[in-house]
Amino acid sequence: MDDKHVLVLGAGFAGLELAARISDAFAGDVRVTLVDRNDAFSFGYSKLDVLFGRKAKADVLLPYNEIAREGVDFRQEVVTSIDPEARRVTTDRNTYDADVLVVAMGADYDFAATPGLEEGGHEYYSLSGAERMRDALAEFESGTILIGILGHPFKCPPAPFEGALLLHDQLVTRGIRQAAEIRVLGPMSAPVPITKELSKSILDALGERGIEYVANQQITELDPSTKTVLLESGGSVAYDFFVGIPVHRVPEVVASSGLAVDGWIPVDRANLATRFAGVYAVGDVAAAGTAKAGVFAESAAAVVADDIVARFTGGDPPEPWDGAGSCYIEFGGGAVGKIEANFHGGPAPTARIVGPSPELAADKAEFGTTRRARWFGSS
Ligand SMILES: Cc1cc2nc3c(=O)[nH]c(=O)nc-3n(C[C@H](O)[C@H](O)[C@H](O)COP(=O)(O)OP(=O)(O)OC[C@H]3O[C@@H](n4cnc5c(N)ncnc54)[C@H](O)[C@@H]3O)c2cc1C
Repeated sequence: MDDKHVLVLGAGFAGLELAARISDAFAGDVRVTLVDRNDAFSFGYSKLDVLFGRKAKADVLLPYNEIAREGVDFRQEVVTSIDPEARRVTTDRNTYDADVLVVAMGADYDFAATPGLEEGGHEYYSLSGAERMRDALAEFESGTILIGILGHPFKCPPAPFEGALLLHDQLVTRGIRQAAEIRVLGPMSAPVPITKELSKSILDALGERGIEYVANQQITELDPSTKTVLLESGGSVAYDFFVGIPVHRVPEVVASSGLAVDGWIPVDRANLATRFAGVYAVGDVAAAGTAKAGVFAESAAAVVADDIVARFTGGDPPEPWDGAGSCYIEFGGGAVGKIEANFHGGPAPTARIVGPSPELAADKAEFGTTRRARWFGSS
């Protein structure tokens, strides 16, 4: 077994979970090379901590050099080409050949897809964007804050609404809520269209705080000189402070590899295998029929790991992936709700919300602690 090599591209939710599970299964007898361009991981939700000044950026980074997992070799390198037929990958420093290749490179942001966004808008979907927006918000005193969801799909469907709810809290604390209007515009018919119940909870929470969700609106560009956004329908909306949830896309190297079709990598939903032998795609980079969120990336990675174990040991393949996961949504005031979703386990996707309650805030903190221990091998 010790001549087998699993190459994992991307050390996010999916890549870290996969590497940990292969390490557990083979105790170092299968080599795992885990490649990421960054030197540290951070949870998606920690961008909200940085945006609202609850934590500094340095405090939400989990450095990859702390990975202490048997058989796992982390390399900080930029993937520059992927040949899925040959399972050969080139980085800025090396070339790798793999028995099994797992593409777990997430979704990148296409800021240029929305002209005017970089000059005239803010975002909190990247850590540096969250830092810049935090500083810009400190200067905001009054006017309309417009949160625009610029494309679909995007990471963590509740996150634009969490941003709006937490923004409300911040403006209340600063004593300027009355001087501000908060509106969310998005292309979806409801905040989280897969379930009415969940959308209703979010709409109720927004409504109680005087925040409007304007549905079915596709923003095409910003005109920073007049502080207006232009809509596909031909109309325009004025803003004083614009926050964009950027258009998402696969990383450029994935697009040029031929792996993606219609924007994302098609996979067999049962086990996340691509149409190339020995190549899987897992997490946000894949068109796997779930929302793009870390918890689905993680549950998919578990199935991929079991499939790889079966492949190497000749065992039975795992049960098909159920596309299930539970993630948290902050409602403000320290209350956190838990969304339990299941995309593939039945005839139609289901999602229900538990809470919100202050107790679930502790659950959310525990979620991060357990992942850190499992992925990094520290306790
Ligand atoms: C504001 C916000 C809040 C969120 N809240 C939640 C939440 O509460 N719960 C939840 O489940 N999800 C949440 N998410 C979503 C979650 O962060 C993502 O869905 C999740 O990280 C996807 O995991 P992944 O492994 O597919 O990709 P990622 O975690 O994005 O990992 C992909 C990795 O690939 C690397 N990579 C990309 N290109 C290259 C290259 N060329 N060379 C080398 N490395 C490369 C990247 O550096 C990255 O580390 C949130 C996201 C945001 C933005």
